[in-house]
Amino acid sequence: MKSKKMIKVLGLALSGVLIFSALTGCGAKKDGQAASNGNKKIKIGVSMDDLRLERWQHDKEIFEAEAKKLGADVVFQSANGDDPTQMSQAENLISQGVDVLVIIPHNGESIAPIVDEAHQNKIKVLAYDRLITNSDLDYYVSFDNVKVGELQGKAIVDKTPKGNYFMMGGSPTDNNAKLFRQGQMNIVKPLVDKGDIKIVGDQWAKDWSAEEALKIMENALTANNNKIDAVVASNDSTAGGAVQALQAQGLAGKVSISGQDADLAGCQRVVEGTQTMTVYKPIKDIAAKAAEMAVKMAKGEDIQTNGTVTNNGKKDVPSVLLTPIAVTADNMMATVVKDGFQKFEDVYKNVPADKRPSK
Ligand code: BGC
Repeated sequence: MKSKKMIKVLGLALSGVLIFSALTGCGAKKDGQAASNGNKKIKIGVSMDDLRLERWQHDKEIFEAEAKKLGADVVFQSANGDDPTQMSQAENLISQGVDVLVIIPHNGESIAPIVDEAHQNKIKVLAYDRLITNSDLDYYVSFDNVKVGELQGKAIVDKTPKGNYFMMGGSPTDNNAKLFRQGQMNIVKPLVDKGDIKIVGDQWAKDWSAEEALKIMENALTANNNKIDAVVASNDSTAGGAVQALQAQGLAGKVSISGQDADLAGCQRVVEGTQTMTVYKPIKDIAAKAAEMAVKMAKGEDIQTNGTVTNNGKKDVPSVLLTPIAVTADNMMATVVKDGFQKFEDVYKNVPADKRPSK
């Protein structure tokens, strides 16, 4: 492969530089560790699955700002949901000589070989938000994703304790999608076993696409003669597609539906009553934590994870897992708006002034 050759050539060139640096005593890198002093600025390579979804724009913006505060530079790449593109972009970051690699994988399984490639070049890898499975991954930072699913399931069964449920999963290539489902089923399954809930359909939306979710929901409604009482949707983009299908049948607001991300459109639907809840994951927390971890990794410093690990199929990866927050119309002001994650005027844009909460 051309890019691999290129990495090798650059690798050789890099080892030349390292030997030179070792001899001259002004090494930028020692055993893969960027200098924590001297003039060399730490360079963090970020390889992101897809910047087209609103959530990831927040992550990029905040991560870059936090890294800057810590004095590091960020080289950023987005693969627009394409596996080969993400692989070659990550290889390119390695060949650019980044000090540490932060990856938000599109496919947590197929990107795994990049971890070894990075290690061969003495670069450590941090999986951001989504796990890289079956690899020698160094660290993982995310939210408690099973908890996210539990919050979604809980809000929906509280609102609709009995009836026909449709399970709208996320991208089948995203490990998180499986964890959300695990959490959702922790709550829903006991009620299925009791006979209160019937799962009438269960599908996964490729790439978390709203269009895909729209089609899935249209077909599910047709197949069930519109007899669906609740939809456990895994994020706001898929919820958006599903709500559009419900709207076309006059069912929006009548069918309970979950989401995640506190996207603007998701928050608007929550306060307007067409979406039951969203899950707010404070991006400032994960982005700041990830920037701090990346800089420490580049410097070869230890990271405190309080013993938390996530098994990725090959090893227990030291992990930092942050806490997600369930958001309904009742606590929108106290969470998403209070944190400045979305603006009051935007969230309540379509809500008549006399129906809005006071600021
Ligand atoms: C993230 C969600 C996001 C989804 C789609 C998941 O891995 O955890 O926050 O909605 O990807 O981008």
